[in-house]
Amino acid sequence: MFLDLAGQRCVVLGDGHLAQEKVRLLVEAGADVKVIAAQDYRPGDLAGARLVIDASEDLEVNRQAWEEAEAAGILINVLDRPAQCRFIAPAIVRRDPVVVAISTSGESPFLASQLRVRIERWLGREWGPFTALVGRIRRRLREAGVPIAEQTRIYRRLLQSDVRRLLANGQTAEAQLLAATIGQARSRPAGRVALVGAGPGDPGLLTLRARELIADADYVLHDALVAPETLALCGPDAHLEPVGKRGGSSESAAQDAINARLIELAGEGHLVVRLKGGDPFVFGRGGEELQVLVQAGIEVIAVPGVTSALAAPAAAGIPATLRGVSSSIAITTAQRSDSLDRLADLARAADTLVVMMARTNLADVAETLARALGDSRPAAIVSNATLAGQRQVSGPIADIARLADLEGIEAPATLIVGDVVTAIPAAGALQAAQTL
Ligand code: SAH
Repeated sequence: MFLDLAGQRCVVLGDGHLAQEKVRLLVEAGADVKVIAAQDYRPGDLAGARLVIDASEDLEVNRQAWEEAEAAGILINVLDRPAQCRFIAPAIVRRDPVVVAISTSGESPFLASQLRVRIERWLGREWGPFTALVGRIRRRLREAGVPIAEQTRIYRRLLQSDVRRLLANGQTAEAQLLAATIGQARSRPAGRVALVGAGPGDPGLLTLRARELIADADYVLHDALVAPETLALCGPDAHLEPVGKRGGSSESAAQDAINARLIELAGEGHLVVRLKGGDPFVFGRGGEELQVLVQAGIEVIAVPGVTSALAAPAAAGIPATLRGVSSSIAITTAQRSDSLDRLADLARAADTLVVMMARTNLADVAETLARALGDSRPAAIVSNATLAGQRQVSGPIADIARLADLEGIEAPATLIVGDVVTAIPAAGALQAAQTL
């Protein structure tokens, strides 16, 4: 509940530091504030008040003020006495006209203020002018008798548009123009597709932009690799469509179906997020989708993600580059047998070799690499990096397939080959700890 205290008589008991802080807040709310020092308070002084804050820190004043306020039906808050509070003053974040109030029901004012700071960082200043702008459009739509369902569609479009970004950049005129256009649109505006990287698995490794987009999207078409914890961050109205590899149909048929679905949904005016594990453009078929969408004349945005090619070694404590040890990285896959020759060439050319989709053909891949680099070149294989089920094992390349079997390493797994694997002894300890 928010109280409108403009012009209302409010009493603050006490004149210490805490009392002054309360006076400041009440004055900010436009209240007619009367301050009574603890020693000056007499029962009856609260008459006519809407609201009282007792910051006297005096037990006898607390008791008398509580009794008087209760008898007169005046809202009272006795500082630090939850049992003598008819209301709780929340921690607040102001983005006028937006106000966010945080209460821990008196359990922890400290945590309430910590939450306030977090929300303040997250809720950009542009939300104030953005909300005011949407409010003006809402009044116009209501006056014009636009049906609620159509109004809601317009608000959703405003939310998904660039209006907030323009306001944040100080481009107020452009923001207003764009908002007005959306506010008038009778016909469906064009939809768009965002090709978004979801990172290696841990939702903490999503980018801020990815998080915003999945919160606002109408549709989220996601790979099988995207973690449930990440999908849980999608908006409540978002339609989630898993489009991982479908049993039976060939891979290219599945890809054609995804492309067609993206075009269909964007054509209907939706904001569609194509959410992919890692980075969309690193063995993620993001390139093919971009090409098809551009050809179809659909607006596309690309949001890079943390690729598992770099996250898998990092999560196992293996630096991809290291001064004096490795100054080049090659990233490839072990998908097709015809790529084994290329793999050997790459391994010789780069200091650090990262092989994705490494699990199925691991024995063949390791054999090829051992021949090219020597049996003892250090290697590590990391599965489910950054997720609760992360496992890894390291050893000479000639042994790595056997070790992976022994440790029960499963897909998705990434192989790292090069001296960086053993360069930092502490990394071995980290790996051991995580394997346990
Ligand atoms: N676009 C993705 C890669 C898709 S290919 C990216 O940039 O990460 C799928 C391969 O990625 C898997 O076979 C595996 O090699 C790797 N991979 C994906 N998630 C992984 C994870 N959590 N841990 C280790 N490897 C992972």
